[in-house]
Amino acid sequence: MTTVAAYAAPAAKAPLERTTIERRPVGEFDVLIDIKFTGICHSDIHQAREGWGEAIFPMVPGHEIAGVVCEVGPGVTRYAVGDRVGVGCMVDSCQECDNCRAGLEQYCDQRPVWTYNAVGKDGEPTYGGYAQQIVVDEKFVVRVPDGLALDVAAPLLCAGITTYSPLKHWDIGPGKKVAVVGFGGLGHMGVKIAHALGAEVTVLSQSLRKKDDGLKLGADHYYATSDPATFEQLKGGFDLILNTVSAPLDFPAFLSLLRTGGAMVNVGLPEEPVQVPLAALFGNRRNLTSSNIGGIAETQEMLDFCAEHGLGAEIELIGAAEINEAYERVVASDVRYRFVIDIATI
Ligand code: NAP
Ligand code: ZN
Repeated sequence: MTTVAAYAAPAAKAPLERTTIERRPVGEFDVLIDIKFTGICHSDIHQAREGWGEAIFPMVPGHEIAGVVCEVGPGVTRYAVGDRVGVGCMVDSCQECDNCRAGLEQYCDQRPVWTYNAVGKDGEPTYGGYAQQIVVDEKFVVRVPDGLALDVAAPLLCAGITTYSPLKHWDIGPGKKVAVVGFGGLGHMGVKIAHALGAEVTVLSQSLRKKDDGLKLGADHYYATSDPATFEQLKGGFDLILNTVSAPLDFPAFLSLLRTGGAMVNVGLPEEPVQVPLAALFGNRRNLTSSNIGGIAETQEMLDFCAEHGLGAEIELIGAAEINEAYERVVASDVRYRFVIDIATI
């Protein structure tokens, strides 16, 4: 076992504080990673505050992990000491079900082992990336390509793959019109990736406060959803709406913006249940669907795509002591556009 420093929430809604945790010994197929940077995802906050239901405490959040391999088990073939690597939301899965075999480990029949707030196959709780090191089976480790700095790569491990996967699934490319709802951590990556895929991209944000950034990062258009005229003007205009909002929306209003057969993909996961009248779908055979992160092979594909197109996250680098303040700013939609913890400060 290795003892490492970490930041943990001792109980639901309690502020995070410095502590130490034990990492398991490096097993045959394990990689030990010196974590350099970890992004703060809104999912960290939902879970640390038990907004999604009962959670496991103490909780070390963090599933946007970028670092350097510092030790490998004897059976490891894909990575060597010194490699730049990433770990996202999962650290294990059954590896046997149809979904795992199809590279859809995130939909594993047994449920994947999440990077934190879960119990591993060894019966021990998992702890995430707000920590100096992590031990992960090499199958759940991806390579950060040369040309992507580790700090701006870290958020790609969740925000990047969560937006890339549905855009690919729904065949987004030239000739397609995509709306990204919410211009935060996921939203800004959704804009960059949809633009790089060749789509015409519109941001639907609560206000025009971040319009200049949106246009600079790849949006063709930027509208405020607080203005009812937006919904009149954009009616029936989109092939795909990627909803990254962490709170419930007026779903019928957004669905009215879809073309016939268009899809609204929800990646934002509000804490409250949402009710949508089916009549909001019937008019134009609309799809209301969802997407959860992405598989391991697809995460590697996304990182390679981002490196090829020069896409990293826009980040605010913070020290570990600023995590609680950063949480408040994320909740207030005051982030441009991902907080990343410099793990050297833990
Ligand atoms: P974030 O950085 O806080 O971005 C969310 C954005 O939604 C905000 O920046 C804001 O954008 C908008 N927003 C917030 N509150 C709103 C409200 N009450 N009404 C309308 N718009 C509002 O969060 P994130 O890290 O991108 O995560 C977004 C959501 O996705 C969270 O629920 C998170 O748990 C979930 N998530 C899901 C997956 C998955 O695999 N499906 C993966 C990661 C995260 P504007 O200021 O532009 O309006
Ligand atoms: Zn996340």
